[in-house]
Amino acid sequence: MRVGILTSGGDAPGMNACVRAVVRGCIYYGMEVIGIHQGYEGLLNDDMEMLQTSSVADIIHRGGTILQTARCARFENDEGILDAYENLRKHGIEALVVIGGDGTMRGALRLHELTRMRVFGLPGTIDNDLAYTDFTIGFDTSVNTALNAIGNIRDTSSSHGRTTIIEVMGRDCGDIALHAGLAGGAETIIIPERPFDLDDIVKKLQAGRARGKRHSIIVKAEGAAISSADLAAVLTERMGGVEVKVVILGYIQRGGSPTARDRILASRTGVRCVELIREGVSNAAIGIKGDTIVDYPLSVALAMEKDSHLEYQRICDILL
Ligand code: ADP
Repeated sequence: MRVGILTSGGDAPGMNACVRAVVRGCIYYGMEVIGIHQGYEGLLNDDMEMLQTSSVADIIHRGGTILQTARCARFENDEGILDAYENLRKHGIEALVVIGGDGTMRGALRLHELTRMRVFGLPGTIDNDLAYTDFTIGFDTSVNTALNAIGNIRDTSSSHGRTTIIEVMGRDCGDIALHAGLAGGAETIIIPERPFDLDDIVKKLQAGRARGKRHSIIVKAEGAAISSADLAAVLTERMGGVEVKVVILGYIQRGGSPTARDRILASRTGVRCVELIREGVSNAAIGIKGDTIVDYPLSVALAMEKDSHLEYQRICDILL
């Protein structure tokens, strides 16, 4: 039995721990593993190598992905997918494991629909935007990176008596903002999933000032309905010239050594993936619900709708 593995889409801390788990799990059960470089792009370019136990030594703690990742427009149409399938067949690959986000999993599902190739999706993305799993691999590390930044910025905001808008990643999903903002004691959190009221934000900031609070932190997801620069300009004007700074965290949230939680999630889902391959399952997305590792057919997983933010919003409404 020969298994192919690739990482695709945006990179996320913990992808390496996940590659390691799949490779070592496969070898443990007597299967061969071929590592495909640069996601679907490398699959189309026939850029792959046989992996051994030693190939994944000393990577559990590293951010990024040793297999590298890419976005691949050719794979988004059926002809490209059929070309990719030919390369899988040529190398005798009977099951393909993909580590990535929603787009990566949709590509894998289409490959399965067109060719019956056995495909397995592991949730590697910092965004936490996959509804079928409570957490994705990389999310916890990103939240902790953002949290550390909030702590540092809070110190300087406090010294200068400023309001600071901290923009974190999340185009459609505000989970990084929600979790880092909640843990970091932000005054206000603005996410794409929920409309916000500028009057309420101004009132809250003014009430804080009236109580003697010298600084405030607003955590805003990049995809929220207002840009950080516009928000800063509006707040400065509405609050009588109070200094409002904007800090955009950007790519620092993608890198870094994965947290214990991400490494363990990567290891558990990776091993479960290998077990599903052994059990003869044809396709699955693997994730975590509560503390249980779960799997669903890819089409079922990708049709689910995310609502976990509602519970976190409720807590923020009470505490912020
Ligand atoms: P992520 O996996 O992090 O969501 P992308 O959305 O960029 O990242 O997807 C990664 C790659 O997956 C794309 O470059 C493309 O090759 C493939 N992909 C995305 N969506 C589809 C789709 N609907 N059908 C086929 N392939 C897709």
